[in-house]
This record gives sequence, structure tokens and C-alpha cells, in this order.
Amino acid sequence: MLDVKTSLYNTLTKRVEEFTPNEKGKVGMYTCGPTVYHFAHIGNLRSYIMEDVLEKYLRYVGYDVKRVMNITDVGHLTSDGDTGEDKMLAGARREHKSVMDIARYYTDAFMEDCRKLGIKKPDVVEPATNCIPEFIHMIEVLIEKGYAYVAGENVYFDTSRLEQYYVLSSQNEEDLKVGVRNDVEEDTNKRNKTDFVLWFTKSKFENQEMKWDSPWGVGYPGWHIECSCISMKHLGEYMDIHCGGVDNIFPHHTNEIAQSESYTGHKWCNYWFHVNHLNTKSGKMSKSKGEFLTISLLEEKGYDPMVYRLFCLQSHYRKPLEFSWEALDNVAQVYDKLFRRIQKLGSQGEMEEGAYAQYEKKFAEALGNDMNTSSAITVLYDMLKEDFSDVVKRKLISRFDEVLSLGLTRAFEDTAAEEEDSELTEYVERRMEERRAAKKEKNFARADEIRDELAAQGILLKDTREGTVWEKVN
Ligand code: AMP
Ligand code: ZN
Repeated sequence: MLDVKTSLYNTLTKRVEEFTPNEKGKVGMYTCGPTVYHFAHIGNLRSYIMEDVLEKYLRYVGYDVKRVMNITDVGHLTSDGDTGEDKMLAGARREHKSVMDIARYYTDAFMEDCRKLGIKKPDVVEPATNCIPEFIHMIEVLIEKGYAYVAGENVYFDTSRLEQYYVLSSQNEEDLKVGVRNDVEEDTNKRNKTDFVLWFTKSKFENQEMKWDSPWGVGYPGWHIECSCISMKHLGEYMDIHCGGVDNIFPHHTNEIAQSESYTGHKWCNYWFHVNHLNTKSGKMSKSKGEFLTISLLEEKGYDPMVYRLFCLQSHYRKPLEFSWEALDNVAQVYDKLFRRIQKLGSQGEMEEGAYAQYEKKFAEALGNDMNTSSAITVLYDMLKEDFSDVVKRKLISRFDEVLSLGLTRAFEDTAAEEEDSELTEYVERRMEERRAAKKEKNFARADEIRDELAAQGILLKDTREGTVWEKVN
């Protein structure tokens, strides 16, 4: 482990705290995955980029991280609360496809976006529809313990049974109405306004395509239960870090805590990491608004996805970030300049362990200070200005890029290929000179031998009127 202190802002305590995992050296981390009814927009991807940096930072300093992510393919209604239609169903209707086809298509598209952005695939990725028995079990326990009730053929969580419901935010009932944004409609089955659905058998939308049998009738799970169950299935009853965008704080994460802690009877997750939104001039980028930017669109316009990643890393994850094409153009120039600068580094010089260790730590310290990615990038620039050998610089860039994942080591691959090319050219020319000398001495057997040796190495010589030329085959 690197000797670096890790501080993180914790939404639960509303302050920056030193991070200490439950088990020494190990971190259990959970991420709310995408709702796969449409492409991920670059706002969603901002959240995943910053969470990826957090995970990779923890690995960089030496933690053994297990990261779990769900795929929401059922139960997320258009309101984020308990009203409206299942987003998956709306997506399927929009595209005249089945919900399963939509889920598969957009899950693959999401994974592809992540790959382009250098986002590591979590250790476990689990679609909600894989875990229906686990949801049913948790709901049964909640009913048994008196935390849930059946009304109007749906199962609800009884928030009045909690000592404190708003553990993550200090919302009042007015804010609740904002939380459940679209078509807020009073559900008369609910005992308390803040109660939420665990299992639907009756909803306004009877055309729900995906339904499962349950002790309460054929139906489908609410959105929040999936994250409680999927995280516990893979990480156990104690978790270190839970991530998501700030819009997940309420109601989603608030409800996850209510369910999980009522089910286990103890505190569930210690640190809550929330990424602020990517906005455009007209407000938060959102899928439901219909018009949004995707990574493919950025690529079509000629931007390397790495430029968008750098755009995100240049600002702090807790601040809103405004997207504009001008800002992205600036970052594209910055990226290009940085890449070219790195490309100029050779592979010669001495390895200086002290210099390496000093910057390896400096970089970690910048990120350890509540994931300050822009100051980590400053550390990279400071390092490039140092009087270190190119070998040290290259090694540090590779090390930093384990976290930044900006594709910076591609700069070495290009130079490595060039170096390889020039070594080959030098070699072939030397052998051709030998062959010319042999021919001059009329030692044709030797000349043929050299030609055959080169052919065995995939280098074909051709004698032309202008002299001998060569080509490398396969
Ligand atoms: P969804 O696919 O809607 O479930 O959202 C996936 C993730 O993106 C969640 O963690 C959201 O909190 C996050 N998110 C949604 N909109 C934005 C945005 N404009 N900026 C950053 N993150 C967002
Ligand atoms: Zn979730």
C-alpha cells in the first residue's frame, strides 16, 4: 500500500472524511448502473468516468477493490418515484421491439461507450431481472419485520417505521414532490406520503411486459429494491462505498438505505460518493428530454472519446459541469498538445527510483484529497517539467494512466512502432550491403544465402533495374 491518506466527501455525513474500509486493505464498492431504455448520454457517462477514477485510485494506492454494478432493466418508472410508466416499456414501444431486445441492445451500447472512454468494467455486472428471487426474499423479510405492508395489491415500504428517513438529505415534503418529478399523483394505498413501492401487481400501466410470480401476485419489483439486493448478493451486508449521480440521492439512495438497514438491522454503507451533473446551457442533460449527446455523436463530430474524459477530469466531481462545444474544443487542443509532448519522450536514460516514488506519491496525494483530478493532472505537467530521464517520465506516465486512463501510453506505442521500424530498416540495409559485397566478390552462393536468411525472417528482396528493394511480408 502507498502511504497516502484518502479523504472523500461523504454525502451521509456531509463532510470530507478520511476513508477507512471495513476490512483492512479491501474495498467493497457499488455503482448504480444505467437504465437501459436508451443510449447513455455524456452526462450519465460523466458519473461513470468519475466513479472509474475513484475505483482506479483505490487500486493505485493498493486496495483490493471489488466493484459491483447493476443494470436496471425493470422497475424504473418515468417519475423516479412510484408513478408513471416503466422506462423500459416506453423504450420498447418507441422502437417497436421487446423489452428484452431493448435491454440487450442498450446494455451492449453502454459497455461499448465505457470501453471507448477507458472505463473499466466492474467486477460484477448484474441485470435486475436476474435477481427476482432475491428481491422477493428481501421483501418477505421486510413484511415479516413489520417494515412493509400490502395495500391495493402492491407492497409498500412503511417509512413511518424508521427513526429517520431522510438520512442523506434534509428534504421536507415539498422537496419530495420535486423528487418525484413527473405526474405526481397521490397513491391512496400509501399510509404515508413518503412510502414507496417494493413490488407492483397493480399499477396504472397494465401493459407491463415483464412480470413474475410472487407471494403477492404476478407483478414486478420497484426500482430501489434491486440495488439493495444486488449489492448484498455480491458484497455482503456491509459495504464501503456506494456511488451514483446526485439525482440518485433522493429518492433512490434514501430508499435503498431504508430497505437495506431495516432488512439487516444494522448500518449498511459507510461512504456515499455522488457525482454532480453535467449540464447544458438549458439545464441538466437528461435522457427523458429526448435530445442528448452521446459518445458516438462526439466521435462523428471528430472528437476522440479521450477528449471528453479529459474534459470531465479537469473539473471536480462535486461541482456541476457545463458542457459547450467551445470548451470541448479547448480540451481537444490541450489533449493533442499533451499527447505530442509525451510522444517526444524517448526510451533512453537511467531509472531513478527516488524521483519515481516521489511523483507516484504526489499523484496519489492529489487524488486522495477528495478525488482532485485536476490537481492530479497538474502533477503530471509538473513531472514533465522536471529534469528526470525519459525512462522515469515514461514510467510515471504509464503509472498515472492506470487511473487517468486517457490513452496516454498510446503515445509510446506509436514511438515504439517507429523505433521498431527504424531498427528493422537498419538491419535489412546492413544485410543488403553484405550481399552486395558478396556479389562483388562473385560469391553468389553467399549472396543467395543472405537472401534466403532474410526470406526466412519474412523479408523479401527483389532485384530491380534501379537496385535491390525489399518488403516485409506478414
Ligand atoms: P440512469 O441511466 O438514468 O439510471 O442514470 C445513470 C447514472 O447517470 C445515474 O448514476 C445518474 O445519477 C447519472 N446521471 C443522470 N443524469 C446525469 C447528468 N446530467 N450528469 C451526470 N450524471 C447523471
Ligand atoms: Zn441504484
